[in-house]
Amino acid sequence: MDFALNDEQREFRDHCRRFAREVIRPVARKHDAEESTPWEVIREARAWGLNGLDHIQRTGQDRDGQLGVIAAEEMHWGCAGIALAVNGSGLAAAGIAASGSPEQIARWVPQCFGSDEEIKLGAYAVTEAQAGSDVKSLRTTAKLDGDEWVLDGTKVFITNGGIADVHVVVATVDSALGHRGQASFVIGKGTPGLEQGKKETKIGIRASHTAEVVLENCRIPAENLLGGMDKLNRKLERARSGQKSGASNALATFEITRPMVGASALGIAQAAYEWTLEYLDGQTIESRPALKEQRIQQVLADVATEIDSARLLVQRASWMGRNGVPMSGGQGSMSKLKAGDVTMWATTTLMDLVGPYAQTADCPLEKWFRDAKIYQLFEGTAQVQRLVISRMQAQEYRERLEWAGELAAGGAPATPVSAAA
Ligand SMILES: Cc1cc2nc3c(=O)[nH]c(=O)nc-3n(C[C@H](O)[C@H](O)[C@H](O)COP(=O)(O)OP(=O)(O)OC[C@H]3O[C@@H](n4cnc5c(N)ncnc54)[C@H](O)[C@@H]3O)c2cc1C
Repeated sequence: MDFALNDEQREFRDHCRRFAREVIRPVARKHDAEESTPWEVIREARAWGLNGLDHIQRTGQDRDGQLGVIAAEEMHWGCAGIALAVNGSGLAAAGIAASGSPEQIARWVPQCFGSDEEIKLGAYAVTEAQAGSDVKSLRTTAKLDGDEWVLDGTKVFITNGGIADVHVVVATVDSALGHRGQASFVIGKGTPGLEQGKKETKIGIRASHTAEVVLENCRIPAENLLGGMDKLNRKLERARSGQKSGASNALATFEITRPMVGASALGIAQAAYEWTLEYLDGQTIESRPALKEQRIQQVLADVATEIDSARLLVQRASWMGRNGVPMSGGQGSMSKLKAGDVTMWATTTLMDLVGPYAQTADCPLEKWFRDAKIYQLFEGTAQVQRLVISRMQAQEYRERLEWAGELAAGGAPATPVSAAA
């Protein structure tokens, strides 16, 4: 076991931090105030190797699984809204990679990023007004009409919704089957019947575009069904005949992506912590340096400890995901839950420490406090994360009991996943 970052990881962290300081921070306030998409930063991130296919390939090659979470934390240290605008297309690419055929992946994933000359964006659209946490209740329908799929429905709160070049949309093919009757479709730019609806005005991550996506008689070629017709038919047949669901695969995939969201949240917490240290270093309380006040030391120690413990959960989960160690105890969800809660708590706590100035728009804590909230909400709310962890822990417990029972009975059963991990 080795907790130290290697030379490559340290250099990459410094590179990301320099990008965040020199390119993101100078325009963070402007894009926050204007709620504008930071195209110039996305372009520059491409030049620095921090956006697009090269970036995905590089972070994917790290055997420890740390480069991705390092990049997420450092970019969000710069500005969470801009960082999401830079790398939000990764969600659509992940959706295509998870469900698409090799040909579909080769065709559509590059289109989520475009080229150095022509930047493109992707959007991944699942959530609806009545179905976010409760994903089985999606109402957007996809009906086969000759050699076209026809999509109808409204997606809400979609990152890059309406401005993306590629929309990956999850829709219901057979509503009686719940989530097992759903499929993913790719919709290219300019397809009639896809319109941007209301653009959301948000308290935080304002540089990231969030909008409704309205689908009305949206016709796409049959080949835009991710995975293809045969695979969908097999899945529907299995569901109709009551065979075992593949839902646990989806759960396992989410476990792998959640540490990235946790790392993103921690970038905000770390930024708020570092700024507060620097600010207090210049303050005196009754002619004593503020950092020598034990009352203040108590709070700062708690903030530092909480951030570090959340970071360790993120690093562990990311390492497990990269090395194929099953997160059967919900380790991915734990990392996202803890990092989101720590970030909201840390920004609030640091504001209390700084006092009324922290409430003003002149103080950077005000923005970090606003940016923090979303990490308890999207990509699985904190409450839903707790349910996932609790269910996975219970399942792991049952497996261990079963294994211990078989062992006591003199069998030689295979080691359960949880014990192996
Ligand atoms: C800025 C932003 C960007 C987003 N980007 C995307 C995107 O790109 N693509 C996409 O598809 N979606 C996106 N979302 C949607 C987001 O993922 C959902 O809003 C989120 O998953 C919550 O789902 P919901 O809106 O249905 O809320 P609900 O599920 O209605 O939740 C409401 C409240 O009820 C709680 N709750 C729900 N079920 C339970 C339960 N069983 N037990 C205990 N508590 C429960 C929740 O925790 C929450 O507190 C985005 C949202 C925002 C705000």
